[in-house]
Amino acid sequence: MVRVTVLASGSKGNCTVVATSKTRIVLDAGLSCREIVKRMRLAGESPEDLDGVLITHEHQDHIQGLSVLARRWNVPVYATEATHAAWKRWMTPRKTMSFAAWLELRRQQQANLSPASTETDETGPDLTEAALELATVMAEEEEPAIKATNGKLEEKMFPPASPASEDPSYLPLVEHFRAGVPFEIGDIRVTPFTVPHDAVDPVGFILQAEGMRIAVATDLGYLPPNVRMHLQRADLLMIESNHDLEMLRDGPYPWAVKQRVLSRVGHLSNDAVGEYLSNEYDGAARFVILAHISESNNLPELVRLSAERALDGKMGLLGNKVLLASQSMPLESIYL
Ligand SMILES: [Zn+2]
Ligand SMILES: [Zn+2]
Repeated sequence: MVRVTVLASGSKGNCTVVATSKTRIVLDAGLSCREIVKRMRLAGESPEDLDGVLITHEHQDHIQGLSVLARRWNVPVYATEATHAAWKRWMTPRKTMSFAAWLELRRQQQANLSPASTETDETGPDLTEAALELATVMAEEEEPAIKATNGKLEEKMFPPASPASEDPSYLPLVEHFRAGVPFEIGDIRVTPFTVPHDAVDPVGFILQAEGMRIAVATDLGYLPPNVRMHLQRADLLMIESNHDLEMLRDGPYPWAVKQRVLSRVGHLSNDAVGEYLSNEYDGAARFVILAHISESNNLPELVRLSAERALDGKMGLLGNKVLLASQSMPLESIYL
């Protein structure tokens, strides 16, 4: 049996747990570590047993809690090399800048953002919490280094025991994957595939375990043939239904942000998902999770109505149960 729990989905943070009897992984770490752990425990998943965290792309709503989660719970991180490098660039203070100054800069950047732009996934309202959490972990990791040295002279002679204490982008273990090249974590086979989105190397995932096939595609501007091909024969399909076109057009976002969301490297609208579900989707999934629903430019009722209308003839007692992922609370676990 495979258990899937969407802990959070949306522009303020994304995180989903997939677990078999032997392996437990999370897709994205877009909440603060504390929040991820809290929601995992609520769902009956233990962070102690995590075998990996897989990253789709480097936008903040997918990586905010990554550093602390990986360091505190010693979880291997799986990302493409380009995504890892982009994340590192973002995490590393400029050479002339102390970590405290970097933290302050990020705080100021956040304070300067307009309320509208905080809903796009380039920024995240949890940033301060996540950054402060990282500062705490770094301070904790610094302790052994201080204990190991005795006074200034020795401090000069010996480098700190843990490089982690001075490097915010330190991760205990990173495995790089490439889109199109499958790999395994325990008994879960992972196939990453490229999606069109405005990040350096964004991917979706096919996860296969115990005869089940799970397809995850959130954060993509449209559905090119390679993505449509990967979404076939899924037992669970998780796809974003980000915005209602009219609400986005008439909504509060600045023009440039609207253009970005609407672009071919932005996000899928309810209409785009509806078009896919009615015209091309094979109807194979027992569960269809609609995810990354915008809180400013969409309404759950519109998402559901649009998808159910599109699925029309394909909905049965056994198949295509439509679920809406939420930002604020975990979705009930799905057993496949
Ligand atoms: Zn996102
Ligand atoms: Zn994104």
